[in-house]
Amino acid sequence: MSKELVLPQLPELIAKADNLPSPPSVAMEVLRLTSDDSVCIEDIAVVVSRDPALSAKLLKLSNSSLFKRGSEISTIDRATMVLGLKTVKLMALSFSLAGSLPKSGEEESLFDYDAYWAQSLTMAVAGRSLAQLVKSRYFDEAFMCGLLSHIGQLVMAECMPEQYAKVLERVAGSMPTAEDERQVLGFDYPTIGATLLRQWEMPEQIHESIGYSACPMDLPATSSVEVTELAWILHLAELATTVICSSRKGPALSQLHETVSSRFELSDSEIDAFIIGLENGVSETASMLNIEVRHAEPFDKIIEQARMQMVSVSLGTAIDLQQSKEREEALELEKEELSKKANTDKLTGINNRAFFDEKLREVIKEHIADKYDKGLGLLVLDIDHFKNFNDTHGHLAGDAVLVAVAQAVDDGVRGADVAARYGGEEFVVILPETDEEGLLLVSERIRQAVEATEVTYEDKLLKVTASIGGAVCNCIDHQADGPALLKVADECLYAAKEKSRNCSVVTTVDSIVL
Ligand code: GH3
Ligand code: MG
Ligand code: MG
Repeated sequence: MSKELVLPQLPELIAKADNLPSPPSVAMEVLRLTSDDSVCIEDIAVVVSRDPALSAKLLKLSNSSLFKRGSEISTIDRATMVLGLKTVKLMALSFSLAGSLPKSGEEESLFDYDAYWAQSLTMAVAGRSLAQLVKSRYFDEAFMCGLLSHIGQLVMAECMPEQYAKVLERVAGSMPTAEDERQVLGFDYPTIGATLLRQWEMPEQIHESIGYSACPMDLPATSSVEVTELAWILHLAELATTVICSSRKGPALSQLHETVSSRFELSDSEIDAFIIGLENGVSETASMLNIEVRHAEPFDKIIEQARMQMVSVSLGTAIDLQQSKEREEALELEKEELSKKANTDKLTGINNRAFFDEKLREVIKEHIADKYDKGLGLLVLDIDHFKNFNDTHGHLAGDAVLVAVAQAVDDGVRGADVAARYGGEEFVVILPETDEEGLLLVSERIRQAVEATEVTYEDKLLKVTASIGGAVCNCIDHQADGPALLKVADECLYAAKEKSRNCSVVTTVDSIVL
């Protein structure tokens, strides 16, 4: 026994509707005969013959390309013999049920009855052909289930038109999917259809497989082979029908390819050929049921369109990916720019104090981790008599000189060394791996570069000098060693100022005693 479907009763709106379709008496009689094992072909033929329209349909069907086996069949007896008992029973049931359902609605109805019938017929033919293609025994059942698979939509459109109009408005002109219905109403056509067909006492396999057609993956493990096969066939027939009937051809075809190939050994081109092959069956069945089905294009053209949509969908995905990559890169760039801005001194364009502090912390961490063989060196540079300079030449001239000095300092450092403006007219340099000799070399190179720098400001050639203090520590153990070493370098700077200015004073400390 399969699990109960999610909706055991029809929603009140439908259950209470006085226009709820009821199965025609012939269908009911066929149904009754179906469940009676002692029934023979003649019994069915007698019942069917009572409904001339149904008989005509069955004869037409027997001679159609879907069923035809050999010569022309002209009597129901013969049709029943040729087609077999099961086929006749199922077809009689399908046709009498389909015949009893409305083909058009109220004038103001938003529900597209033509589209509904085109969809149902396509489902029936697709279900049957697919069942044959995957060598399922249940092809007649697949036809019938396909034909009735969307009956829930018809019922909702007829019995709860106002509520269903909300779903129809949402999909604006196309047939709603089960998902569309669930989002608006909280239930969907497969469940409504299955519940109604159960109420009509249709065989369990029929309503169970229709009920699970939208989600065969949710079938309970205890489901019979027949229900499982049918639910999956209906699911795939639905995709094929979407390719044929809807505008979302590409996604449906690619989903069909994917789902079919995961369950059956069929290639994409075999699936496409199967869809093209449905064209005849659909038009024959349509004429049998007196339904006018006008597909906009021949099916080979439809497949062509679907394939093109598939390509453009995958191109669209590629474009999306490319765009999101570009967005990511732009964001990354923006982030880089922001962090550069946060780390750059506005006036001089070289690193600022925040960057220096962070870099010093990093380098100290590396020293603590014993990454370097030599010591950590720091230089502090201060422009000589800069207050005087400003007083003599003006603050703007001072700014111009600061920019030029910053450049000279920055150009004077190499490799892993980092120069920054510490504030005012003071600059600092981190030399992550150096000894006193190296430190003095860099210090003098920078000092001389500053000394050689000439700035033209308002036709005046301006020059400054700078004093530099430097300290190297061979043994860095703590983060606090950084500021402490800076203090030692600052003391050397003071010594350089004391000494003569425009000179370097450097020292080495083996370790810092805090
Ligand atoms: P010393 O040789 O002892 O360093 O003398 P000094 O005049 O340079 O010393 P002090 O630190 O007392 O003066 C620093 C001056 O630097 C004061 C200020 O006018 C100038 N200054 C600091 N920041 C800026 C700036 O952004 N632009 C300009 N133009 N001047 C600045
Ligand atoms: Mg100063
Ligand atoms: Mg100064």
